[in-house]
Amino acid sequence: MNSNDSILIIGAGLCGSLLALRLAQRGFKVDIFESRPDLRKVDIDAGRSINLALSDRGFRALRMCKVDHLAKEICIPMYGRLVHDREGNTFESSYSGRKGEYINSISRSDLNGILLTEADKHERVDIHFNQYCQRVDIENNVAFFQDAETKKIYTVEADVVIGSDGAGSSLRKSYYAERKFLFSFSQNFLNHGYKELEIPADANGKHQIDTTFLHIWPRGDYMLIALPNQDGSFTVTLFLSFDEGKYNFNNLTSNKAVIQFFEEEFPDALRVIPNIIEEFNNNPTATLGTVKCHPWYYRDKTLLIGDAAHAIVPFYGQGMNASFEDVVVFDSILDQNLGSWEEVFRTYQKVRKQNTDAIADLAIDNFYEMRDHVANPLFKEKRKIEMDLEEHFPDVYFSKYSMVTFREDVSYHEAMVRGRAQDKALLNLIADQEVSTSLNMTKEELEIVLDKINEETEEILREDKIAGL
Ligand SMILES: Cc1cc2nc3c(=O)[nH]c(=O)nc-3n(C[C@H](O)[C@H](O)[C@H](O)COP(=O)(O)OP(=O)(O)OC[C@H]3O[C@@H](n4cnc5c(N)ncnc54)[C@H](O)[C@@H]3O)c2cc1C
Repeated sequence: MNSNDSILIIGAGLCGSLLALRLAQRGFKVDIFESRPDLRKVDIDAGRSINLALSDRGFRALRMCKVDHLAKEICIPMYGRLVHDREGNTFESSYSGRKGEYINSISRSDLNGILLTEADKHERVDIHFNQYCQRVDIENNVAFFQDAETKKIYTVEADVVIGSDGAGSSLRKSYYAERKFLFSFSQNFLNHGYKELEIPADANGKHQIDTTFLHIWPRGDYMLIALPNQDGSFTVTLFLSFDEGKYNFNNLTSNKAVIQFFEEEFPDALRVIPNIIEEFNNNPTATLGTVKCHPWYYRDKTLLIGDAAHAIVPFYGQGMNASFEDVVVFDSILDQNLGSWEEVFRTYQKVRKQNTDAIADLAIDNFYEMRDHVANPLFKEKRKIEMDLEEHFPDVYFSKYSMVTFREDVSYHEAMVRGRAQDKALLNLIADQEVSTSLNMTKEELEIVLDKINEETEEILREDKIAGL
């Protein structure tokens, strides 16, 4: 392997464009083929998670590529969740007890545009839009493309082909179809899908609800969330079962039923979504799934990265962050000068796979947490203790959420194992009434609680190890 090797990247989404930028910064010649038009020129957002939560792992990758300052300019900080009940009452649930820790709402297309522009600045990067990859001949490193305008089908050869073409990856399908090696693949859909709606800006172009929070309307069977956009609007996402429960996508088939559903469940949100009927009827309903597969590479020829290798459900706000972290990990393995692409791919997969499996599982856990638990008194009590501990012992205590979201130095796997044990320990202590939030605890009292949590966490970790978990 050397820097004259030609690299073909399929998919110029968030991961593909960041990877192209990084590889170009390292001196490689990169060609990216993207099925859609150039999103900097054509509006192709409709119905496709318009904004995303960007957190520390994602920022680390942007910093590595020296584009973090550009992303920061378009970020809106969100310091916690604002939970709305059916009566329209709200309560706050901070993301962290430490000062200066927050997540950011960012426009998918603006961020993607920044990455494309920065990658484009490199002479050895060529981006080809409207080119759909049909399949890859993985034995010969030949990709088959169709031009969206001319409909012409043609082939492109490269030394290395990298599939960053998202959850429906053409490269991954080619692995599956060719089965030249043992290829495991699983795709698990939730019974819930999602639909995006909008809270528009007010008459003065201002946001109608507080921008410093991620808003959430948890209702057990369904849930609404809203993230702010820079133009004064909020993107609202409804998560709802396709066919279960009193209300579901399959039975909300009349305007009357939609209004009734929102009036009963989300009356305060309904008041600020004026085009509910039009949006509900016209915006697509999309599925939510987890993709896991193995191996991610074939010999020294091809590699899957980002959602193509590990698509996850969006409830931890980590899919993009994880895909960006992929680029950081891949880059660090290139630094090791392993000599061959195959060795690079093998090492990358070895380091990365257990972490992306972990965040996939954590994201499913968070689906239940957001939908069912955030408004639960026990959960609120637990979060209050966690916030107090983080505030008073900022360098010592990190909740599971903080480890996943704000600690890019802690792997997802470690965050999952330690975070789950810590959660269990704290819930046990609350259940046994060994800690209580009824009174505001002093720092000394909190220190005793911290010691108990740590002791119990270590005990749980020891037991898990013995049980082989
Ligand atoms: C509703 C929702 C909310 C989300 N919220 C968050 C969040 O808050 N925070 C977060 O970190 N993550 C979030 N995610 C996850 C995030 O969107 C993905 O993890 C991220 O987009 C993955 O980037 P990617 O580049 O790997 O894939 P994608 O962004 O899907 O990009 C793939 C690219 O490949 C192109 N492509 C596809 N097929 C082909 C083909 N055959 N030929 C050529 N090109 C092709 C596509 O057009 C696209 O440009 C969310 C996802 C959803 C669905």
